[in-house]
Amino acid sequence: METIPFHRPFIGKEEEEAALRVLRSGWLTTGKEALAFEEEFRTFLSIKDCSFSKNESRENGDSTQSNLFCLAVNSGTSGLHLALEALGIGTGDAVLLPSYTFTATAEVVRYLGAEAVFIDIAEDSYNIDPQSLERTITELSKTAGNKHKAIIAVHIGGLPCDMTAINSIAAQYGLAVVEDAAHAFPVRTSESQWAGCCSDVGVFSFYATKTITTGEGGMIVTGRKEIANRMSIMRSHGIDRPAWNRYTDTNASWYYEVVAPGYKYNLPDLLAAVGRVQLGRATELLSMRQKIAERYDKAFVDQPALIISAPGGARHLYTVRLRDAEKRDTFIESLRKEGIGTSVHFIPLHIMPYYRDRYNLKPEDFPHSYQRYKETVSLPIWPGMTDAQIDRVIEAVKKAICHIIFS
Ligand SMILES: *Cc1c(COP(=O)(O)O)cnc(C)c1O
Repeated sequence: METIPFHRPFIGKEEEEAALRVLRSGWLTTGKEALAFEEEFRTFLSIKDCSFSKNESRENGDSTQSNLFCLAVNSGTSGLHLALEALGIGTGDAVLLPSYTFTATAEVVRYLGAEAVFIDIAEDSYNIDPQSLERTITELSKTAGNKHKAIIAVHIGGLPCDMTAINSIAAQYGLAVVEDAAHAFPVRTSESQWAGCCSDVGVFSFYATKTITTGEGGMIVTGRKEIANRMSIMRSHGIDRPAWNRYTDTNASWYYEVVAPGYKYNLPDLLAAVGRVQLGRATELLSMRQKIAERYDKAFVDQPALIISAPGGARHLYTVRLRDAEKRDTFIESLRKEGIGTSVHFIPLHIMPYYRDRYNLKPEDFPHSYQRYKETVSLPIWPGMTDAQIDRVIEAVKKAICHIIFS
């Protein structure tokens, strides 16, 4: 019996050729491919009316649609780190973020010596609850503890957060907003906006399992020029002139200045070239995922044991919830025996030993996150799944349901 993996990247001839082109070019690190990838990403987001409304008001019209900066980086995590650093997050600051996310969202806060303040998700979604967010900010304001500086909104599974509510809270309390859009390419939050483009800085991930991939990689987007400049310098060692610029400059190609102890976060051309091909496929890949999700929805909507997720979004994940959370692990095991790969997104951070112990947290401190975690399973949803493979997942799920009902 053939196993159906939880994920398989969609890589074609064009990606192979792009990688070969770079391998044969004599320039492997960040150069013209990365620049082209950034420019093409910018075009993708621009033509569809991406607007940085919040920043426009903040910077007196400095941020317009033509003022969209895209920076390719070697991972989404690097991008989040650069974003917080450029926004001035440092020791003792508090950064508010959902407990229901991958550790990358929170670890970057700790890289900078700031503290992660977890917020529960809403009862009816996987995303941060704006009401809990506001309540926590009000409580924090009363104590003389951390300065609260930023909010990270995570579009879990590619279903966008309520950015209008989050931005309005942020504006009221003077906080910066970063979108962890690792799952959210490409998806709109409204007719005129893209997820990842609704805040001070948005970060996409091109990790192997994400909606488009370079193996490892990411893209930062912002409408704020000085933030973009800082991130660009910090992305390559805090050097004011990256290698490609020095290489292509006709005078003083050897001279550069180090203006900060920066990082090594640039995306090599070898990966950027693959990213350019994937970007060109992004809408096609989305529609392939949508078709799989629609077939799952149709098959599972009448299953009383399951709760299916809200439709829409980038469909990075297809999650179902078990009405009887106690049976979740048996359900997963039953699928495994049928050769179906699954995953759980996510084990909430507040129960992870590091965060639990550092902040003295209990599972019930974030009841919605904890409940969702116990109920949730992610099923395979990757472009290239055949009809037969989709059918097999559906049959295996039905069989697993019978199994848990009678176990
Ligand atoms: C994948 C992921 C990231 C990090 O992306 P990398 O490119 O793997 O560094 C950040 N946040 C979330 C929610 C993710 O799933």
